[in-house]
Amino acid sequence: MTNFPVDLIRKDFPILNQTVYGRPLVYFDNAASTQKPVQVIRAISGYYETDNCNIHRGVHYLSQRATEVYEDTRKQIRQFINAASSQEIIFTRGTTESINLVASSYGKQYVNPGDEVIVSVMEHHSNFVPWQLMCQERGAKLRIIPIVESGELDMNAFRGMVNERTKIIAITHVSNVLGTINPVKEIIQHAHTFGIPVLVDGAQSISHLGADVKDLDCDFYCFSGHKMYAPMGIGVLYGKEKYLDAMPPYQSGGEMIKEVHLSGTTFNDLPFKFEAGTPNVEGVYGLRVAISYIQELGMENIAVYEKELLDYATEKLTAMGDIRIIGTAKEKTSLISFLIGSIHPYDAGVIIDKMGIAVRTGHHCAMPLLEWYKIPATVRASFAFYNTTEEIDLMVEAILKVKQMFG
Ligand code: PMP
Repeated sequence: MTNFPVDLIRKDFPILNQTVYGRPLVYFDNAASTQKPVQVIRAISGYYETDNCNIHRGVHYLSQRATEVYEDTRKQIRQFINAASSQEIIFTRGTTESINLVASSYGKQYVNPGDEVIVSVMEHHSNFVPWQLMCQERGAKLRIIPIVESGELDMNAFRGMVNERTKIIAITHVSNVLGTINPVKEIIQHAHTFGIPVLVDGAQSISHLGADVKDLDCDFYCFSGHKMYAPMGIGVLYGKEKYLDAMPPYQSGGEMIKEVHLSGTTFNDLPFKFEAGTPNVEGVYGLRVAISYIQELGMENIAVYEKELLDYATEKLTAMGDIRIIGTAKEKTSLISFLIGSIHPYDAGVIIDKMGIAVRTGHHCAMPLLEWYKIPATVRASFAFYNTTEEIDLMVEAILKVKQMFG
């Protein structure tokens, strides 16, 4: 194993230091939500202890200070994802809201009857249903990129689908069920030869791979704070200015307004045009510190360590013989979905939980994907940089117990 300071890092995450059912807690549900370091927790309580105030609209000291932190964080995110301008950074509640914003607003502006929208069969419902609804509303057709058995996109099928009727492509960077890292750069390059914009769902990639929107050349990029060591209820939509400028507001009221008259309303400039109502200021305070935390550890170091965890887990599970791993792509993040013989994942999940290990069982909000595999559910273990190989050994023990009980 590399010299990753996991013991030191774990000290920053107080929640990990507890027992459940009399056993040390092993937290392998990071794809659903990550834990928060004390630095983030302190940033949130610090906001309420010294800075709490509504932003933008106040001339007084507290309001100015909170506004400054809020807007500085926008600049920090611009730099973190390498966007051209902080006007292209919109604060949202999370990935789901970011995608809904684009589907609704872009749809109104650009999608007409007979047009087509492309997503893949491995999308999370949050990057599937908003497009399905928008297509129904606009009279457009939703086209689905299939996958191959390994859980990789069928790129030939994708290329055959893109045409002059395609208005937007929405694709996840990393699958929350398979761990597959999709070739989004290749998809974007192909789409751009037709002048078609691409939205990348970064919910599962941002904490493992980071993001460089300039290098990807994506037109929209979405992520959630809570999956990257920041609080819930805060997220980001990045969009290229040329699209955001042309798109109508998603919600109205508050800072998104320039002037209101009885005769009508004019809207604020970017990014405020898309930030209606009082924003989640405490969430932004937390997100700011979470990003700094990740940057201090170094994205490269995180990726190397997490790859070691994935390889270790894959090797251990494969050696058990009757474990079927769902998602065997060459490029994966540190996530592993599996089935234990013919034992139902829910039964397995209950026993694994009783051993103090938090894994997720179910369809993981990706029902079209599980239908494709003709399975109702999987057990999913998803690792973060605070996890260890010793914890993976504990999971293997728990799986042996499951097999004893149900096998
Ligand atoms: N997309 C993917 C790939 C996800 O894994 C998730 C969360 N599981 C979402 C979108 C939705 O994220 P949120 O619930 O934070 O909006």
